[in-house]
Amino acid sequence: MRWSKTFIPTMKEIPSDAEIPSHQLMLRAGLIRQLMAGAYTYLPLGWRSVRKAEQIVREEMDRAGAIELFMPALQPIDLFEKTGRKEAFGNVLINFHLQRGDRKVHLALGPTHEEVVTDLIGRHLNSYRQLPICVYQIQTKFRNEERPRFGVLRTSEFIMKDAYSFGTSLEQLNTVYDQMYKAYCRVFARCGLKYLPVEAESGPIGGDASHEFMVPANNGEDRIVHCEPCSYAANLERAETGRKSATQPADAQAAPLQKVATPHATSIEQVSRMLKCTPAQMIKTLIYKADDQPVAVLIRGDHEANEAKIRRALGAKAVELADEKMIRDVTGAPVGFAGPVGIKCPVIADHDIPGIANAVTGANEADAHYTGVNPGRDYQLTGTHDLRMAQAEDPCPKCGSLLKLVHGIEIGHVFKLGTKYSVSLSAEYLDEK
Ligand SMILES: [Zn+2]
Repeated sequence: MRWSKTFIPTMKEIPSDAEIPSHQLMLRAGLIRQLMAGAYTYLPLGWRSVRKAEQIVREEMDRAGAIELFMPALQPIDLFEKTGRKEAFGNVLINFHLQRGDRKVHLALGPTHEEVVTDLIGRHLNSYRQLPICVYQIQTKFRNEERPRFGVLRTSEFIMKDAYSFGTSLEQLNTVYDQMYKAYCRVFARCGLKYLPVEAESGPIGGDASHEFMVPANNGEDRIVHCEPCSYAANLERAETGRKSATQPADAQAAPLQKVATPHATSIEQVSRMLKCTPAQMIKTLIYKADDQPVAVLIRGDHEANEAKIRRALGAKAVELADEKMIRDVTGAPVGFAGPVGIKCPVIADHDIPGIANAVTGANEADAHYTGVNPGRDYQLTGTHDLRMAQAEDPCPKCGSLLKLVHGIEIGHVFKLGTKYSVSLSAEYLDEK
């Protein structure tokens, strides 16, 4: 092939709208060109690279026993209504009405293919003898990306390999999960990537049932907690910490409990400014609805609550922040003034809470806070839990070394979905009986 007969438009200058090296290099080497925000043309050299990567993925999927097929990107919206994902995807799901003769059809462009593949398998496989089966495709996906950026890293249209397994038991699920995990490791190793498998939040069937594969990179948008000595790694939502329950500092003099006026100050920032204390001296009291019952969750003012940890600590099926009415019922105050002193619901606390001497909290009264709040004297705790997002320098849950927070780019994800899709789309089979 002659250079003059191909199409490799290289660039000398670094394009001003390309923020990160991968985007700059791909433009300069003539691999890609942008059509519009979030949509790129792969030029001949770029496409050649995509095809090589695809081939590696294809070979490893085949080796893991998955079989290739190809499903439509165009999908009827009612499949997404049946699984509740029309609502769950919200604005991300690209969908539209088309005129077909005298009727209108409502269609979506597939963001992934769980619905389509479950509908397919449910219709055409019906005996336990035909299971397990694992199918995959390499297909274009569509997701309305509100802020497309970083070249081909975050786009509204992208090529993805997605594989789906169907089986009759948790054992079959675990076997294929393991095969896929290993296949992903082989793919990334063959591509020469330095990658980390990290524990991710597990979704509907619980356990440590989800892994993301991440490439550590400064401009990655995912945050990973990583322990180098023991190689524990988890995404920030999932990461546990090895913290123990703190004890109140021995040199702290217990101040008297005092109610102070804090007119209109409902946030940690407003109250700390008004009372001249740091957010770390404050206790955030978050009212959650856990399986329909109110519970107060205490988190240090400068920390971020982790809903999945709260759900597990309570042994609840579902938790969400309480609505205004429930907050008023248990605190007797409008939103923003909750505190543990005299609250009318069970209270659970993060490990760091007992370590705050003379804390500042809401007073369960409009426009008022307490200062000098101390556990034992002013409110009772039966125990403490790991209820917040991990941070850099927290102790590792496995070995106690200090954790690091690194950024990463997600390159793969394996899930155990359980029966979420097979139940909602009636994909059932006949067993021996
Ligand atoms: Zn460790």
